[in-house]
Amino acid sequence: LTGWKFAPEKTVIDVDGVKIGGENPVVMAGPCSVESKEQILETARVVKEAGAEVLRGGAFKPRTSPYSFQGLGERGLELLSLAREKTGLKIITELMDTEHIEMVTSHTDIIQIGSRNMKNYALLKEIGRLDKPVMLKRGMASTVKDWLLAAEYIMSEGNQDVMLCERGIKTFCDDTRYTMDLSAIPLVREKSHLPVIADPSHGTGRWELVAPMSRAAVAGGADGLLIEVHPEPKNALSDGPQSLKPEKFEKLMNELEKLNHAL
Ligand code: PEP
Ligand code: MN
Repeated sequence: LTGWKFAPEKTVIDVDGVKIGGENPVVMAGPCSVESKEQILETARVVKEAGAEVLRGGAFKPRTSPYSFQGLGERGLELLSLAREKTGLKIITELMDTEHIEMVTSHTDIIQIGSRNMKNYALLKEIGRLDKPVMLKRGMASTVKDWLLAAEYIMSEGNQDVMLCERGIKTFCDDTRYTMDLSAIPLVREKSHLPVIADPSHGTGRWELVAPMSRAAVAGGADGLLIEVHPEPKNALSDGPQSLKPEKFEKLMNELEKLNHAL
């Protein structure tokens, strides 16, 4: 790759005791959007009980339509902090704008950069100057090479705690919401020292496919999973059709435990 600057041993990111890129895959789970105090605390409780180590939840949402729910903003971040206090889960949430850097970093343990912002180089450079782990989602129409170079935009500014997230790409195929590029997982493991996370929720858009694709991703070498879970998917304000109910998530966590032993 041109522009490749750092080539150390495999990166292990220590998020306050939770090691990403180490021996065991780390599960980050929670709703697409933080919707209310009850919703986020209940989801945090069930995902923690099932064995997740990181709670996900969007407070600033990059919706396709400006008329769709845009997230609770700062109130959503405060609710994530409250969930962290009550459960001990680490938090991951999306940062969309340089304007919100201080506000978001004060409430989160990992900054999520969304698919739509993978090539927002001004934002990536700013994040590169922070001392905070980052998960860089793959642009939905980006090659693996562009994705790895986007990660370099962060690292070349100083911040080395970058993990990648395969979240599906646009292809001719419209049977699923995106096409989950499973091959990108072992490919990235071969080409990069950075941990790679799989997001089968956005990757497929269908909750029925989330468990099998989670198992496939872990078997393929993923360092972690990002999974949408909602107490009542049919009432979710975003991404209900791809969200697991708590009992399905618990079942998946049991399967993953067995798979991890077998690998
Ligand atoms: C999300 O994680 O809810 C999200 C919006 O992801 P992406 O940027 O991959 O679409
Ligand atoms: Mn979502």
